[in-house]
Amino acid sequence: MKPTIFDAPVPICEVEAFHHEYDVVVVGFGCAGAAAAREAAASGASVVVLERASGAGGSSAQSGGELYLGGGTAVQRACGFEDSADNMFAYLSAALGPHADLEKLRLYCDGSVEHFEWFRECGVDFTKSLYDAPTWMPPTQDGLMWLGENAWPYNTIATPVPRGHRPSTEGWAGHTVMAALIGAAEKAGAVTHTDTRVGELIVEAGRVVGVRARHFGVDVTYRARRGVVLATGGFVDNEEMLGHHAPALLGHGKVSDGLDDGSGIALGQSVGGAVRRMAAVEVAYTALPAMVVRGMLVNGLGQRFVNEDVYPGVFSHAAFEQPGPCWAIIDEAGLEDIPEQDAWGVRPQHAAETLAELETDLGLPPGSLEATVALYNRHAAEGADAQFHKDSKWVRVLDGPWAAVDPRLGFAPSGRAGQVPGSGFSGFTLGGLRTTVDGHVLSLSGDPIPGLYAAGRASSGIHGDGYVSGTSLGDGTFFGRRAGRRAAD
Ligand SMILES: Cc1cc2nc3c(=O)[nH]c(=O)nc-3n(C[C@H](O)[C@H](O)[C@H](O)COP(=O)(O)OP(=O)(O)OC[C@H]3O[C@@H](n4cnc5c(N)ncnc54)[C@H](O)[C@@H]3O)c2cc1C
Repeated sequence: MKPTIFDAPVPICEVEAFHHEYDVVVVGFGCAGAAAAREAAASGASVVVLERASGAGGSSAQSGGELYLGGGTAVQRACGFEDSADNMFAYLSAALGPHADLEKLRLYCDGSVEHFEWFRECGVDFTKSLYDAPTWMPPTQDGLMWLGENAWPYNTIATPVPRGHRPSTEGWAGHTVMAALIGAAEKAGAVTHTDTRVGELIVEAGRVVGVRARHFGVDVTYRARRGVVLATGGFVDNEEMLGHHAPALLGHGKVSDGLDDGSGIALGQSVGGAVRRMAAVEVAYTALPAMVVRGMLVNGLGQRFVNEDVYPGVFSHAAFEQPGPCWAIIDEAGLEDIPEQDAWGVRPQHAAETLAELETDLGLPPGSLEATVALYNRHAAEGADAQFHKDSKWVRVLDGPWAAVDPRLGFAPSGRAGQVPGSGFSGFTLGGLRTTVDGHVLSLSGDPIPGLYAAGRASSGIHGDGYVSGTSLGDGTFFGRRAGRRAAD
């Protein structure tokens, strides 16, 4: 039997009559859909957003709400940092590379201050203060955080300036961002139809002119007079698509709302849309930044492999490539130094007086951890990390007693549900439909498909092989806005 990859588009001659008619139909109400809907409606178009869930938000609402913005925003300036679009571009092209989309990235950096102001117009407030410690997620309302800009080798490529912008919300803040964006889209005049899952595109003479959806078991058709914007998120929840395109994530946790089944990507492909960088993924490892920066992260051979003060996503990617399992190693003094708010309740599961005992306990090759710590301490005695250039403010001679944490056991900050033990890794997909900088979906031959646009994780954005937190909500909204405006033209 031939496997079904996606549902074929519906020719318009098979549609007896459209149930609804709008200028622009946006599919999916996460951050990209909200940005597209807001801008299309603000341009004067009639807009409907179709959302399969019973409410808007998507993965965006469950996210941390970190927004990668810079170039000299009001928050950066108030915190005493000078930035420029060129400086931001230098950092991101290294951190998101290799193979970042430099055309999109250039626009993203050049437009970043304006995009920050757009968030404020939509109602997102930012506190003008910096959270100055390594973490996945600040527990405070600080509006700015470092996302690896001050870590080697990036601090040699661009002037280190923090660009992680966050709404004035303690901890996870995606719901705050989305409440503002949903409100802004609705205020601009966009209409929302929930419990409405789009299953097929409707085509006429090579142009996408609408969609067919299911609403409580009933088929509903929508004509899109000007364009359809696919903003349905990525495909981490679709095991078959992962198997085909991003098998690295099979067997690991899902960073999603559970509905990232790649339906929008398949819809685009059903009319000949090309895809790009489908194997690119974001990976997060449940190692505590505050712990590894004060100690070290070692692989299954007892060796360090990264400077532990990088953006946690970078040490996560590095750990993903290692012979596992990896361990967070720390001494008693380091453990006691971690502020409670950065400790996320993580307590070591392994403790030993000597490194030899710890090696035996963790199943590491005899002498491996001893050799790693001896080398680290030799350079630490001179205040440096000669191997991986961890910032000297975190470097000191480590001394027993020793402790180790197994990232596979997971953790969660207070206020969040506990992480289920697993591989220690979880992630989401970065690849998707190939689009122009205005969100137009390109065909396999490189021509724009009339009437079809995409944004957010349904499309391939600014990312190459790397990921930095805030760039998914960041490029999803930035290019979502452009797609909405162009679709409304
Ligand atoms: C816990 C967590 C923390 C994260 N933290 C951050 C962070 O701090 N910063 C950052 O930049 N990124 C973060 N991310 C990633 C980021 O949230 C997502 O990559 C981003 O939200 C994707 O936005 P989107 O608009 O493309 O998709 P989504 O927000 O997932 O929206 C897609 C919407 O489309 C709907 N939909 C799907 N298919 C259909 C269909 N066929 N018909 C109708 N509707 C459909 C879905 O129900 C959903 O509501 C995090 C993600 C998670 C889960």
